[in-house]
This record gives sequence, C-alpha cells and structure tokens, in this order.
Amino acid sequence: MDRVAHRRPGVTLLSTVAVLLAGTLAGCTATASPGGSPPGGTEESGYLAEPISPFADDWAITGLEPGLRAALHAAAEDAAADGVELVVTSGRRSAGYQQELLDHAIREYGSEEEARRWVSTPELSRHVTGEAVDIGYTDGADWMVRNGARYGLCQTYANEMWHFERMVAPGEVCPAARPDASAG
Ligand SMILES: [Zn+2]
Repeated sequence: MDRVAHRRPGVTLLSTVAVLLAGTLAGCTATASPGGSPPGGTEESGYLAEPISPFADDWAITGLEPGLRAALHAAAEDAAADGVELVVTSGRRSAGYQQELLDHAIREYGSEEEARRWVSTPELSRHVTGEAVDIGYTDGADWMVRNGARYGLCQTYANEMWHFERMVAPGEVCPAARPDASAG
C-alpha cells in the first residue's frame, strides 16, 4: 500500500526548508511556493506543493486515519453535488515536517508562544497521527463548517476555519471550537 515506505526521510530536508522559507506559509495550511520551486518534501512528509483532491493517491491522504478518510470522501461527494469542490491543503504529516512547520512559525511570529496558536508540536498535532485534515478553498472550508457534522467532522479551532477532525458520531452536534491550537 505504501510504495515509498522504504524511502529514508530527511534526504530532501534542506530543500523542504528552503521552500518553506520562500513561501508565505504561516499556519497549518500548506500553500504553494510562490516562486514555482519544485516541491521540497518527499511523499512521506505530507508536504503538498498545492491543494489536492480528497481522493488523491498521495500519502497526505492515504496516510489519514481510515475513518477520517472515509468521512472526507463522503463529504467531498456531497459537496460536489452542492456544486462545491473540496480540496485538501494539508493532511497526514510526518513528525519531521510538523517540526519544520513549527520552527518556521516561530521565526515568523517571533515567539514560540504565538506560533503555537497556529502550529502544534509533532507530539500533539493530529496531522501527525492522521486524525486531522485541512480543507480549502474558502468556499470548501465554509461548506465543511456548515455541513461537516453530518460526517462527524468538526472545526476544531476557532481561528482555523480549515482544520477538521472527526470529533462526534455522524449527525451529532459538534462541540464548540477551541480558541486556537495552543489550547490543546
Ligand atoms: Zn490543520
């Protein structure tokens, strides 16, 4: 299933960092690098040069917890029926990639305290365990905020309208979003 499982991570670490530095990446949304640089990460890192389909054969998607992936697929199909395309801007991430995101955010925000409002640690991030997915574009995230509970998918943090986790049984009411990622 994982055709790149044998590949050693870290080989392209430097180029990954370079791409991150070049980009405007601040939080948990992976954005395309503006300079058109080639993707710096390996498939195993979860780095995405651009948003991908929820059905893509990419470790960022295939590495998601199966229940989350199934819920995502069901939501994407229903959103499409509503005329809204859901894309994934970030899904499963390696611990190393999560650390790079956090390091970058600390440089960006000037302090770890502020950075942690947007980017979690490798130990705490649900992206690293495959239990979180970031949805775009804005209309897709908005659709998911309004309809995600039908699939058990809830907006976890009030300051991240794109970040969803499977928090309730399908059809139940989502709990109130926590203020930000630093709240746990
Ligand atoms: Zn996220």
